[in-house]
Amino acid sequence: MIDEIFDRAKKSITKSRNLKELDDLRVKFLGKNGEISNLLKNLNKLPKTKRSEAGKSLNQTKIIVDNLIKERKKYLEKLELENLLLKESIDISLPGRNFEIGGLHPITITLNRIQSIFEKNNFSVEIGPEIENDFYNFAALNIPSHHPARGMHDTFYFDSKTVLRTHTSPVQIRAMNNNTPPLSIISLGKVYRCDSDITHTPMFHQIEGLVVDKNINFSQLKGLLIDFLRSFFQNNNLAVRFRPSYFPFTEPSAEADIECVICNGDGCRVCKQTGWLEVLGCGIVHPNVLNVVDIDAKEYTGLAFGMGIERLAMLSYGVDDLRLFFENDIRFLRQFK
Ligand SMILES: [Zn+2]
Repeated sequence: MIDEIFDRAKKSITKSRNLKELDDLRVKFLGKNGEISNLLKNLNKLPKTKRSEAGKSLNQTKIIVDNLIKERKKYLEKLELENLLLKESIDISLPGRNFEIGGLHPITITLNRIQSIFEKNNFSVEIGPEIENDFYNFAALNIPSHHPARGMHDTFYFDSKTVLRTHTSPVQIRAMNNNTPPLSIISLGKVYRCDSDITHTPMFHQIEGLVVDKNINFSQLKGLLIDFLRSFFQNNNLAVRFRPSYFPFTEPSAEADIECVICNGDGCRVCKQTGWLEVLGCGIVHPNVLNVVDIDAKEYTGLAFGMGIERLAMLSYGVDDLRLFFENDIRFLRQFK
Protein backbone atom coordinates (compact mmCIF):
# COMPACT_ATOMS: atom_id res chain seq x y z
CA MET A 1 0.00 0.00 0.00
CA ILE A 2 2.77 2.38 0.89
CA ASP A 3 4.43 1.72 -2.47
CA GLU A 4 1.22 2.57 -4.27
CA ILE A 5 0.92 5.88 -2.37
CA PHE A 6 4.57 6.67 -3.03
CA ASP A 7 4.15 6.08 -6.78
CA ARG A 8 1.09 8.33 -6.95
CA ALA A 9 2.80 11.03 -4.89
CA LYS A 10 5.92 10.94 -7.04
CA LYS A 11 3.94 11.09 -10.28
CA SER A 12 1.67 13.91 -9.24
CA ILE A 13 4.55 15.95 -7.74
CA THR A 14 6.48 15.66 -11.00
CA LYS A 15 3.40 16.74 -12.94
CA SER A 16 2.48 19.70 -10.72
CA ARG A 17 2.51 22.91 -12.76
CA ASN A 18 2.59 25.57 -10.10
CA LEU A 19 3.18 26.23 -6.41
CA LYS A 20 -0.51 26.10 -5.58
CA GLU A 21 -0.90 22.62 -7.07
CA LEU A 22 2.25 21.48 -5.29
CA ASP A 23 1.04 22.76 -1.93
CA ASP A 24 -2.26 20.91 -2.41
CA LEU A 25 -0.24 17.74 -2.95
CA ARG A 26 1.76 18.37 0.22
CA VAL A 27 -1.49 18.61 2.17
CA LYS A 28 -2.91 15.55 0.41
CA PHE A 29 0.05 13.31 1.33
CA LEU A 30 1.86 14.84 4.28
CA GLY A 31 -0.78 17.12 5.85
CA LYS A 32 -2.35 16.38 9.23
CA ASN A 33 -4.94 14.15 7.56
CA GLY A 34 -2.75 13.32 4.61
CA GLU A 35 -2.53 9.80 3.27
CA ILE A 36 0.96 9.08 4.68
CA SER A 37 0.18 10.75 8.00
CA ASN A 38 -2.96 8.64 8.35
CA LEU A 39 -0.98 5.45 7.76
CA LEU A 40 1.46 6.52 10.48
CA LYS A 41 -1.42 7.17 12.86
CA ASN A 42 -2.79 3.71 12.19
CA LEU A 43 0.49 1.87 12.83
CA ASN A 44 -0.75 0.61 16.19
CA LYS A 45 -3.48 -1.31 14.45
CA LEU A 46 -0.85 -3.51 12.84
CA PRO A 47 0.40 -6.70 14.52
CA LYS A 48 3.30 -5.83 16.84
CA THR A 49 5.83 -7.79 14.75
CA LYS A 50 5.18 -5.74 11.64
CA ARG A 51 4.94 -2.34 13.30
CA SER A 52 8.64 -1.54 13.50
CA GLU A 53 9.42 -2.33 9.88
CA ALA A 54 6.29 -0.61 8.57
CA GLY A 55 7.08 2.46 10.72
CA LYS A 56 10.59 2.64 9.36
CA SER A 57 9.41 2.32 5.76
CA LEU A 58 6.64 4.92 6.24
CA ASN A 59 9.04 7.44 7.77
CA GLN A 60 11.51 6.94 4.93
CA THR A 61 8.73 7.40 2.39
CA LYS A 62 7.62 10.53 4.21
CA ILE A 63 11.16 11.97 4.04
CA ILE A 64 11.53 11.11 0.36
CA VAL A 65 8.15 12.64 -0.56
CA ASP A 66 9.02 15.70 1.50
CA ASN A 67 12.31 16.05 -0.42
CA LEU A 68 10.57 15.53 -3.74
CA ILE A 69 8.18 18.37 -2.85
CA LYS A 70 11.06 20.65 -1.81
CA GLU A 71 12.94 20.02 -5.04
CA ARG A 72 9.85 20.56 -7.14
CA LYS A 73 9.16 23.73 -5.19
CA LYS A 74 12.59 25.13 -6.01
CA TYR A 75 12.08 24.32 -9.67
CA LEU A 76 8.59 25.88 -9.81
CA GLU A 77 9.76 29.04 -7.99
CA LYS A 78 12.56 29.47 -10.50
CA LEU A 79 10.09 28.92 -13.34
CA GLU A 80 7.66 31.52 -11.96
CA LEU A 81 10.43 34.09 -11.56
CA GLU A 82 11.55 33.53 -15.14
CA ASN A 83 7.99 33.99 -16.39
CA LEU A 84 7.63 37.17 -14.35
CA LEU A 85 10.86 38.61 -15.71
CA LEU A 86 9.80 37.72 -19.21
CA LYS A 87 6.45 39.44 -18.71
CA GLU A 88 7.95 42.60 -17.19
CA SER A 89 10.91 42.92 -19.50
CA ILE A 90 11.25 45.98 -21.72
CA ASP A 91 11.74 45.60 -25.41
CA ILE A 92 14.36 48.25 -26.04
CA SER A 93 14.14 47.69 -29.76
CA LEU A 94 10.59 49.17 -29.88
CA PRO A 95 10.44 52.73 -31.26
CA GLY A 96 10.10 55.36 -28.50
CA ARG A 97 7.17 57.68 -27.96
CA ASN A 98 7.91 61.08 -29.44
CA PHE A 99 7.34 64.25 -27.47
CA GLU A 100 6.45 67.12 -29.73
CA ILE A 101 8.52 70.11 -28.75
CA GLY A 102 6.63 73.38 -28.80
CA GLY A 103 7.81 76.61 -30.32
CA LEU A 104 7.65 80.28 -29.45
CA HIS A 105 4.49 82.21 -30.27
CA PRO A 106 4.91 84.39 -33.40
CA ILE A 107 4.36 87.52 -31.28
CA THR A 108 7.16 86.46 -28.93
CA ILE A 109 9.43 85.70 -31.89
CA THR A 110 8.70 89.17 -33.29
CA LEU A 111 9.32 90.84 -29.91
CA ASN A 112 12.64 89.00 -29.57
CA ARG A 113 13.71 89.98 -33.08
CA ILE A 114 12.91 93.66 -32.54
CA GLN A 115 14.65 93.66 -29.18
CA SER A 116 17.81 92.13 -30.63
CA ILE A 117 17.95 94.67 -33.46
CA PHE A 118 17.81 97.56 -30.98
CA GLU A 119 20.19 95.91 -28.53
CA LYS A 120 22.76 95.72 -31.34
CA ASN A 121 22.42 99.51 -31.56
CA ASN A 122 23.12 99.92 -27.84
CA PHE A 123 19.56 100.40 -26.67
CA SER A 124 18.83 98.97 -23.24
CA VAL A 125 15.51 97.39 -22.31
CA GLU A 126 13.33 99.00 -19.65
CA ILE A 127 10.21 97.45 -18.23
CA GLY A 128 7.26 99.02 -16.47
CA PRO A 129 4.06 97.89 -14.77
CA GLU A 130 0.98 96.98 -16.80
CA ILE A 131 -1.22 98.49 -14.10
CA GLU A 132 -0.37 102.18 -14.25
CA ASN A 133 -1.55 105.30 -12.55
CA ASP A 134 -3.07 108.20 -14.39
CA PHE A 135 0.06 110.32 -13.95
CA TYR A 136 2.43 108.01 -15.85
CA ASN A 137 -0.09 106.86 -18.45
CA PHE A 138 -1.48 110.32 -19.27
CA ALA A 139 -0.58 113.45 -17.29
CA ALA A 140 3.20 113.13 -17.48
CA LEU A 141 2.89 112.51 -21.23
CA ASN A 142 1.28 115.89 -21.79
CA ILE A 143 -2.23 114.41 -21.75
CA PRO A 144 -3.92 116.26 -18.87
CA SER A 145 -7.47 115.29 -17.88
CA HIS A 146 -10.08 116.50 -20.37
CA HIS A 147 -7.44 116.44 -23.10
CA PRO A 148 -9.19 115.20 -26.25
CA ALA A 149 -6.42 112.63 -26.78
CA ARG A 150 -7.79 110.68 -23.81
CA GLY A 151 -10.79 109.92 -25.97
CA MET A 152 -8.49 108.14 -28.46
CA HIS A 153 -7.43 105.72 -25.76
CA ASP A 154 -10.33 103.46 -24.84
CA THR A 155 -9.01 102.98 -21.37
CA PHE A 156 -9.72 100.23 -18.85
CA TYR A 157 -10.04 102.04 -15.52
CA PHE A 158 -9.71 100.35 -12.13
CA ASP A 159 -10.64 103.63 -10.47
CA SER A 160 -10.28 107.27 -11.47
CA LYS A 161 -6.52 107.15 -10.87
CA THR A 162 -5.56 103.59 -11.87
CA VAL A 163 -5.61 102.13 -15.36
CA LEU A 164 -4.36 99.23 -17.43
CA ARG A 165 -1.66 101.00 -19.42
CA THR A 166 -2.94 102.02 -22.86
CA HIS A 167 0.55 102.28 -24.33
CA THR A 168 4.17 101.57 -23.40
CA SER A 169 4.95 105.31 -23.23
CA PRO A 170 4.68 105.51 -19.41
CA VAL A 171 7.94 103.53 -19.33
CA GLN A 172 9.64 106.55 -20.96
CA ILE A 173 8.74 108.67 -17.96
CA ARG A 174 9.91 106.00 -15.51
CA ALA A 175 13.17 105.57 -17.43
CA MET A 176 13.87 109.31 -17.48
CA ASN A 177 13.07 109.53 -13.76
CA ASN A 178 15.54 106.77 -12.98
CA ASN A 179 18.38 107.66 -15.35
CA THR A 180 20.24 110.76 -16.33
CA PRO A 181 20.76 111.49 -20.02
CA PRO A 182 22.20 110.50 -22.36
CA LEU A 183 20.00 107.44 -22.62
CA SER A 184 18.74 105.05 -25.29
CA ILE A 185 16.02 102.71 -24.19
CA ILE A 186 13.31 100.53 -25.59
CA SER A 187 10.37 99.13 -23.73
CA LEU A 188 8.17 96.41 -25.05
CA GLY A 189 5.19 94.52 -23.75
CA LYS A 190 1.45 94.25 -23.36
CA VAL A 191 -0.92 97.20 -23.51
CA TYR A 192 -4.70 97.29 -23.11
CA ARG A 193 -7.56 99.11 -24.73
CA CYS A 194 -11.28 98.63 -24.38
CA ASP A 195 -11.67 97.82 -28.07
CA SER A 196 -12.39 94.62 -29.96
CA ASP A 197 -13.14 94.07 -33.65
CA ILE A 198 -11.47 92.59 -36.74
CA THR A 199 -8.43 94.83 -36.44
CA HIS A 200 -8.37 95.45 -32.66
CA THR A 201 -7.95 93.23 -29.63
CA PRO A 202 -8.33 94.37 -26.00
CA MET A 203 -4.73 93.34 -25.34
CA PHE A 204 -1.93 93.86 -27.79
CA HIS A 205 1.82 94.52 -27.78
CA GLN A 206 3.80 97.66 -28.35
CA ILE A 207 7.39 98.65 -28.50
CA GLU A 208 8.45 102.10 -27.49
CA GLY A 209 11.83 103.70 -28.04
CA LEU A 210 13.41 106.79 -26.51
CA VAL A 211 16.72 108.52 -27.05
CA VAL A 212 17.64 111.56 -24.95
CA ASP A 213 20.87 113.38 -25.71
CA LYS A 214 22.39 116.71 -26.64
CA ASN A 215 22.49 117.88 -30.26
CA ILE A 216 20.19 115.31 -31.78
CA ASN A 217 17.52 116.00 -34.34
CA PHE A 218 14.73 114.62 -36.48
CA SER A 219 17.09 113.37 -39.22
CA GLN A 220 18.71 111.07 -36.69
CA LEU A 221 15.29 109.77 -35.72
CA LYS A 222 14.50 109.12 -39.39
CA GLY A 223 17.83 107.38 -39.95
CA LEU A 224 17.37 105.23 -36.86
CA LEU A 225 13.89 104.11 -37.89
CA ILE A 226 14.73 103.51 -41.56
CA ASP A 227 17.66 101.32 -40.46
CA PHE A 228 15.40 99.45 -38.06
CA LEU A 229 12.62 98.86 -40.62
CA ARG A 230 15.05 97.70 -43.31
CA SER A 231 16.68 95.35 -40.84
CA PHE A 232 13.37 94.01 -39.54
CA PHE A 233 11.90 93.42 -43.01
CA GLN A 234 15.28 92.17 -44.26
CA ASN A 235 15.24 94.49 -47.27
CA ASN A 236 18.06 97.02 -47.60
CA ASN A 237 16.16 98.98 -50.23
CA LEU A 238 12.80 99.12 -48.44
CA ALA A 239 11.19 102.50 -49.17
CA VAL A 240 10.11 104.42 -46.06
CA ARG A 241 8.24 107.72 -45.96
CA PHE A 242 7.35 110.05 -43.09
CA ARG A 243 4.07 111.97 -42.85
CA PRO A 244 3.35 114.75 -40.36
CA SER A 245 1.04 113.59 -37.59
CA TYR A 246 -0.05 114.48 -34.08
CA PHE A 247 0.72 112.95 -30.70
CA PRO A 248 0.39 114.91 -27.45
CA PHE A 249 3.82 113.83 -26.18
CA THR A 250 5.88 114.66 -29.30
CA GLU A 251 6.33 117.85 -31.33
CA PRO A 252 6.84 117.66 -34.22
CA SER A 253 5.25 114.24 -34.72
CA ALA A 254 5.21 111.92 -37.69
CA GLU A 255 3.96 108.58 -38.84
CA ALA A 256 6.14 106.32 -40.94
CA ASP A 257 4.94 104.21 -43.85
CA ILE A 258 6.82 101.47 -45.61
CA GLU A 259 6.39 100.41 -49.18
CA CYS A 260 3.77 97.62 -49.12
CA VAL A 261 5.58 94.34 -48.45
CA ILE A 262 2.73 92.35 -50.02
CA CYS A 263 2.56 94.05 -53.46
CA ASN A 264 5.93 95.89 -53.40
CA GLY A 265 4.13 99.20 -53.86
CA ASP A 266 1.91 98.24 -56.78
CA GLY A 267 -1.30 98.45 -54.77
CA CYS A 268 -3.29 95.62 -53.20
CA ARG A 269 -6.10 94.90 -50.75
CA VAL A 270 -3.77 95.04 -47.71
CA CYS A 271 -2.42 98.52 -48.53
CA LYS A 272 -5.84 99.64 -49.81
CA GLN A 273 -4.31 100.18 -53.27
CA THR A 274 -2.01 102.93 -51.94
CA GLY A 275 1.23 100.93 -52.12
CA TRP A 276 2.09 102.08 -48.57
CA LEU A 277 1.62 100.61 -45.11
CA GLU A 278 1.60 102.65 -41.92
CA VAL A 279 3.89 101.01 -39.37
CA LEU A 280 4.84 103.44 -36.62
CA GLY A 281 4.50 106.80 -34.94
CA CYS A 282 7.39 108.99 -33.83
CA GLY A 283 8.52 112.49 -33.02
CA ILE A 284 10.66 114.82 -30.96
CA VAL A 285 9.75 114.54 -27.27
CA HIS A 286 7.55 117.47 -26.26
CA PRO A 287 9.37 119.92 -23.92
CA ASN A 288 6.48 119.58 -21.46
CA VAL A 289 7.34 115.88 -21.05
CA LEU A 290 11.04 116.62 -20.40
CA ASN A 291 10.02 119.28 -17.87
CA VAL A 292 8.00 116.73 -15.89
CA VAL A 293 11.14 114.64 -15.33
CA ASP A 294 13.40 117.67 -14.73
CA ILE A 295 15.41 117.36 -17.91
CA ASP A 296 16.39 120.73 -19.35
CA ALA A 297 14.62 120.91 -22.71
CA LYS A 298 17.01 123.66 -23.86
CA GLU A 299 19.99 121.41 -23.35
CA TYR A 300 18.58 117.99 -24.24
CA THR A 301 16.40 116.64 -27.01
CA GLY A 302 14.40 113.46 -26.94
CA LEU A 303 13.56 111.19 -29.87
CA ALA A 304 10.64 108.83 -29.39
CA PHE A 305 8.91 106.19 -31.45
CA GLY A 306 6.32 103.50 -30.94
CA MET A 307 4.84 100.68 -32.95
CA GLY A 308 2.43 97.78 -32.71
CA ILE A 309 4.03 94.35 -32.60
CA GLU A 310 1.00 92.50 -34.02
CA ARG A 311 1.03 94.74 -37.09
CA LEU A 312 4.73 94.12 -37.68
CA ALA A 313 4.25 90.39 -37.14
CA MET A 314 1.31 90.29 -39.59
CA LEU A 315 3.31 92.08 -42.26
CA SER A 316 6.49 90.11 -41.81
CA TYR A 317 4.71 86.74 -41.78
CA GLY A 318 1.96 87.62 -44.26
CA VAL A 319 -0.81 86.90 -41.72
CA ASP A 320 -4.03 88.58 -42.82
CA ASP A 321 -6.18 88.25 -39.70
CA LEU A 322 -5.13 89.68 -36.34
CA ARG A 323 -7.32 87.23 -34.45
CA LEU A 324 -5.20 84.27 -35.54
CA PHE A 325 -2.55 85.38 -33.03
CA PHE A 326 -4.94 84.97 -30.12
CA GLU A 327 -6.99 81.93 -31.09
CA ASN A 328 -3.99 79.68 -30.38
CA ASP A 329 -4.98 77.17 -33.02
CA ILE A 330 -2.12 74.69 -32.95
CA ARG A 331 -2.23 74.34 -36.77
CA PHE A 332 -1.51 78.06 -37.07
CA LEU A 333 1.12 78.20 -34.33
CA ARG A 334 2.97 75.12 -35.59
CA GLN A 335 4.00 77.01 -38.72
CA PHE A 336 6.29 79.27 -36.69
CA LYS A 337 8.33 76.53 -35.01
ZN1 LIG B 1 -0.04 96.39 -51.17
